[in-house]
Amino acid sequence: MDSRSDAQPFGVYVHVPYCARACPYCDFDFAVDARPDGAALIGALGRELERREDVRRGHAPRTVYVGGGTPSVLAAEDLAGLLGWISASWDTRACAEWTVEFNPEHVDEARLDAVCGAGVGRLSLGVQSFDAAGLRQLGRAHSPAQAVRAVEAAHARGLHVSLDLIVGWPGQTLEGLRQELDQVLALSTEHVSIYALTIEPGTPWERLAERGVRRLPRVDDAADAISCCAQVLEGAGLCHYEVASYARPGAEAVHNSGYWQGRDYVGLGPSAASARHCGGGVVRSSNARGADWWNGEGGGVETLDAEAAAREALWLSLRLLEGVQVDALLARVGRDRAWLDERTARARARGNVEVAGGRLRVAPGRWLHHDEIAADVL
Ligand code: SF4
Repeated sequence: MDSRSDAQPFGVYVHVPYCARACPYCDFDFAVDARPDGAALIGALGRELERREDVRRGHAPRTVYVGGGTPSVLAAEDLAGLLGWISASWDTRACAEWTVEFNPEHVDEARLDAVCGAGVGRLSLGVQSFDAAGLRQLGRAHSPAQAVRAVEAAHARGLHVSLDLIVGWPGQTLEGLRQELDQVLALSTEHVSIYALTIEPGTPWERLAERGVRRLPRVDDAADAISCCAQVLEGAGLCHYEVASYARPGAEAVHNSGYWQGRDYVGLGPSAASARHCGGGVVRSSNARGADWWNGEGGGVETLDAEAAAREALWLSLRLLEGVQVDALLARVGRDRAWLDERTARARARGNVEVAGGRLRVAPGRWLHHDEIAADVL
């Protein structure tokens, strides 16, 4: 590894590959296990740490994010063990943000003791809906009341909370969604991520839809729902700072912002991704999935050359709605203004992107066109 790369700030991501049950729309890398063996996971993560040379072991990451799967399905002592293993593997004392994903039904005093004792400051709660009908469709184990109690319990321990909401499920009305958003606001949540329901190929939901037993979400409904969220959340003073993310001032997600700002990250666990910027390009690796990872098999490595890395950095920086300082972006990716003008010509002609005050950004009100922007600039 070159020293230039070594000196760059980086984030650590650890993937916990268990869920207590399978949500019918999801194809993430997880095994259904309501009582997973935390010691086995820590052992396997330790072996990965030993065999990889790019993990910057002992260095101080800017952020740590423990995701999954469902990290909170681990018993409290296993969760404490995993978080302790992370602190023993990297220097987490000056971390700007340490997040652990939780499902609401797992928020209890013992697990909160585990996260608070380790120095974690933020929970990402997979609430998905405050509507019982929505939770049933999404196959979630918790009730709306449990979600409320989970946020309150986390806040009572001084933790910041980010809520995930899934919108656009069949049967959801805009009136019902507004009531859900009222609940989000009543809880004074610091951060909210909004996702349109997407049914991944090969999932139970897709098979049920093929047999006519379930409806697929409609793209138009999802767009209406996402626009409604923007209107309500911004109206209540949350900043819509990224295509799918809203935050109270100062509560923007630091770890995820690192992805959009082109920072390095190290991912451990099955299917976890890593990226290292060096020599103008990016080395991206992704771990083997499932049993292959447990068997110690390596994953794939892809090297983006400087041009491909510059295009990706341009696209990622446009996820942030404040955009990016043009001069800073060009200096970072080693390109000139003519390159930027050419790459953004189509998106600017469509009115999706603009340069204002030296910043390149998505034009006001055009963030719903982000997929089109991606196709134009990549
Ligand atoms: S959505 Fe989350 S909790 Fe549900 S199966 Fe996928 S990873 Fe597990």
